[in-house]
Amino acid sequence: MTEYEGVIGLEVHAELLTESKMFCGCRVVDSVEEDPNRAVCPVCLGMPGMLPVLNRRAVEYAMRVALALNCTIHPHNIFARKNYFYPDLPKAYQISQYELPLATGGWLEIEPELGVVRRIGVRRVHMEEDTGKLTHTENGGSLVDYNRSGVPLLEIVSEPDLHSAEEAYVYATKLRQILRYLDVNSGDLEKGVLRVEPNISIRPKGTDQLNTRTEVKNLNSFRILFLATEYELERQANVLDNGGEIVQETRGWNEADKRTFSQRIKEDAHDYRYFPEPDLPPLHIDDAWIERVRAELPELPDAKIARYRNDWGLSRYDAELLADEKVTAEWFEAAVAAGGEPKAIANLLLNNLFKLMNESGQSLDEIDVSPEGLVALTELVEQQTINNNIAKSVLVEMFETGDSAETIVRAKGLAQVSDSDAILAAVQAAIDQNPAQVQQYLDGKDKLMGFFVGQVMRAMKGKANPGVVNQLVEQELDALK
Ligand SMILES: [Zn+2]
Repeated sequence: MTEYEGVIGLEVHAELLTESKMFCGCRVVDSVEEDPNRAVCPVCLGMPGMLPVLNRRAVEYAMRVALALNCTIHPHNIFARKNYFYPDLPKAYQISQYELPLATGGWLEIEPELGVVRRIGVRRVHMEEDTGKLTHTENGGSLVDYNRSGVPLLEIVSEPDLHSAEEAYVYATKLRQILRYLDVNSGDLEKGVLRVEPNISIRPKGTDQLNTRTEVKNLNSFRILFLATEYELERQANVLDNGGEIVQETRGWNEADKRTFSQRIKEDAHDYRYFPEPDLPPLHIDDAWIERVRAELPELPDAKIARYRNDWGLSRYDAELLADEKVTAEWFEAAVAAGGEPKAIANLLLNNLFKLMNESGQSLDEIDVSPEGLVALTELVEQQTINNNIAKSVLVEMFETGDSAETIVRAKGLAQVSDSDAILAAVQAAIDQNPAQVQQYLDGKDKLMGFFVGQVMRAMKGKANPGVVNQLVEQELDALK
């Protein structure tokens, strides 16, 4: 049996979150929430004689993505017509880019397994317009909605550098995360604003030949991307092992059977009769424009993770969780900027606040606890006004009532007791009430230390300073030896 490896490239289409469409002033609307054909005009309906005008913001969003993916942005850009007929394309051509795309030669680093960093090439990033949307009815008819017609679309094509379904999944997930960080796409696959299509072939492991590939379309989640890629790799291996040949084709995904199926034999690029778009002048992008866009790029997740680990001593796991979504990273950084100790903030945020948010179904921008409010809570712990356990219950109260940590601690009398006389009295009481355990301790069962600490903490309703309790329990028990 030959051992194969996958040769996988991903073609990603991302709608850009601009206010208006790529070549007209129509609003970009939510395809699910807006009624059909409400955001249309003669330009995006393909009426004769209408002329497109390029959306500058869409170009800048595309430049953001190109720069974040380490691409070279080309100064001379040409739009091209991709000609084909379909009812969702009223002009019978799509304005796209072909020979002179916006950007080429980039890369994205992924870490499919711990410590194994792989650099995946990004072949090209180009701008185009989206098509309308067809809905097929039960009685065999079709409905068309042109709200989406002319919405700015970015095509991001990777090199076939991915070798497994796992790597394809990790690459797609990371690309989605970056698009969200850049505020150019919501990453919502279910709504179709982000579409991922793998092209897949296999080769004997260790060789570098490129074989006939198949393309899988209409995958509306990353889970399905993973399953479909895995299925396709296995299917092709079976075909080759049985002496068959791979056919270049487009395949779909059958969710019920969990398998891909042949849709149509794939057309080549020359079938589209690309030619330069005569209605749009060449687009010139100078260095000053590129540098202006670059200066506005946010710090990206990899850089944040490195900074959280190196500068603030966080674990890799925590750093990754905090940097996963920009809103979380910004909340966390606001708390640190307000004087919070990074590790203490990270702990309460990831372990306690996130749990409360999950239970209530709220997101960080909906809750009543502010970054400054959480910092105030950690300061009470630092000043030994309350201990860590009390802090957790105070946080629950803050979350539920919106009150400040100080208010809750004062109202409920939660301030910690560090007064050694009071604690010493409780320690002596615990020793008097548990003679059997005292005897076992004296016989060498050191673990019983914890038992006495627990007794004292309970007697003091959790408010005793644990450091002082430990010290006094040890001192009093040892005095009996
Ligand atoms: Zn329009």
